[in-house]
Amino acid sequence: MFKIGVDLGGTKIESVLLDDDLGVLKRKRVPTPYNDYSQILNSISSLVLEMSENIPNFSLGICTPGSISKQTGLIKNSNTQCLIGKPLKDDLETQIGKKISMENDANCFAMAEATLGVARDYSVVLGIILGTGIGGGIVIDKKLHSGRTNIAGEWGHHTLHRDGNLCYCGKTGCVETYISGPSLENQWKKLTGRSQCLTEILSDNDIGKRWKDDFLENFGFGLANVIDILDPDVIVLGGGLSNIDFLYVEGRKSVYDKVFSDLVDTPILKNSLGDSAGVFGACML
Ligand SMILES: [Zn+2]
Repeated sequence: MFKIGVDLGGTKIESVLLDDDLGVLKRKRVPTPYNDYSQILNSISSLVLEMSENIPNFSLGICTPGSISKQTGLIKNSNTQCLIGKPLKDDLETQIGKKISMENDANCFAMAEATLGVARDYSVVLGIILGTGIGGGIVIDKKLHSGRTNIAGEWGHHTLHRDGNLCYCGKTGCVETYISGPSLENQWKKLTGRSQCLTEILSDNDIGKRWKDDFLENFGFGLANVIDILDPDVIVLGGGLSNIDFLYVEGRKSVYDKVFSDLVDTPILKNSLGDSAGVFGACML
């Protein structure tokens, strides 16, 4: 069956049409209407209409920037503010006149890499996003494991330091408040007094030892905790921070040192689909 995927991002909406062999037939992106819910619905609907021209039968998946409450069906935790509290899935199904599958960007990322990307030959896949926020998704034998209440894989809000940094989620010490891009920049500022973006910090030949050591320790504990519970066959990194090479060498060692096992060889790999993971993951839902 043909598959249509839509990736609703903060700045762009991208859509793709795949054939039976998962080949790309059509692809298009448009800017996301700024904070206007009904215009966002219209943009998605017209993209789907354009993709499905002369295609009688297709599946439709949508990747959203927030998660969908299993209890209410409403969008929560989205950085596209106008979506929060909206029944996006219901409204789109009504407007398009078709059943759709909808998942957050971390779950779509994991699906994409587990089916079409670097983790396609592995059974239990943990896909994690390291960027402005920290997310994660679990795919088992090409099927998304979203969990009883839709929060499986959300390791970004595991508590790393009980009395640590305050998180927007209301807790303190979440992984996200230590190893997301903005948190790492804050930490750098605290240590050096300098306001620099992550790219500048990393291109500094003399990256602060304390800053890097803390980063590696927090990355190590964060992922070791997940390995102890899930013991995945592979971990795939996505998001802006997945471009940091030392995470695959010193970062991996830091993780391995903290896992509760005498044998740890979990591959920690860089994604292979880049920014396209959302739209392909949406197709594979
Ligand atoms: Zn949190």
